[in-house]
Amino acid sequence: MPLLPRRFQKLKSILNGRMDDLTILIEEVEKPHNLSAIMRTCDAIGVLEAHAVAKESKTRTFNSTAQGSQKWVSLKDHKNINGAVETLKKRGFKLYGTNLSVHSIDYRLCDYRGPTAFVLGAEKWGLSDSATQLMDASIFIPMRGMVQSLNVSVATAILLFEAIRQRDLAGEMPKEGEGLSKDKYEQTLFEWSYPEVANWCKEKGRQYPNLNSKGEIIEDLPRSIKVKY
Ligand code: SAM
Repeated sequence: MPLLPRRFQKLKSILNGRMDDLTILIEEVEKPHNLSAIMRTCDAIGVLEAHAVAKESKTRTFNSTAQGSQKWVSLKDHKNINGAVETLKKRGFKLYGTNLSVHSIDYRLCDYRGPTAFVLGAEKWGLSDSATQLMDASIFIPMRGMVQSLNVSVATAILLFEAIRQRDLAGEMPKEGEGLSKDKYEQTLFEWSYPEVANWCKEKGRQYPNLNSKGEIIEDLPRSIKVKY
């Protein structure tokens, strides 16, 4: 089915609010309902890309809780926590590890307006010691109940919503695509609009074709790929 102009405008309006400088890194969070709820929150917030370190040999699955949000937030896999942290630090992210220790800071006392990555730990064990040591700061969400911790997806939502609350108050929420570089914006818009063609281009190692203002591909592609969109 061809991409309808209304659908193209919808994709653009969502992308206009996406942020490349707010993300999460999850360490060995495995349960499909948690992963799904986390991805759904990332989509709702406007996170462009999330990061994960998975247990070796575990295949990731999502369930209906995700509501398809995994299509709109890319999840980048890292082999280990050191590699993930290094990648994010190189990109200028400040890493906030979540930790229920007495040395952690109340999450409401930090400023999340700059490049921010929240780092969340496994359902059972929390964030590993090696991850905690690599963090720029450790934060916690105050608890007042009998149970010591929150569900990891709930903690993710609280932290991400605090970040956008602060950015919103400061008038720093993107509205017209300012949250992404021009290249990233165009690349993502193409991938959202024509996922099959994007995959084909990746296989061929070629650039994505240009789109006109209605979202139509302005290049004559081979018939074999044209029939797919
Ligand atoms: N026993 C684990 C511990 O001591 O960390 C509990 C893990 S908790 C169920 C899973 C993850 O949720 C944690 O690693 C953290 O990322 C997040 N989390 C849960 N409650 C939190 C809180 N009150 N503050 C900050 N993060 C929290």
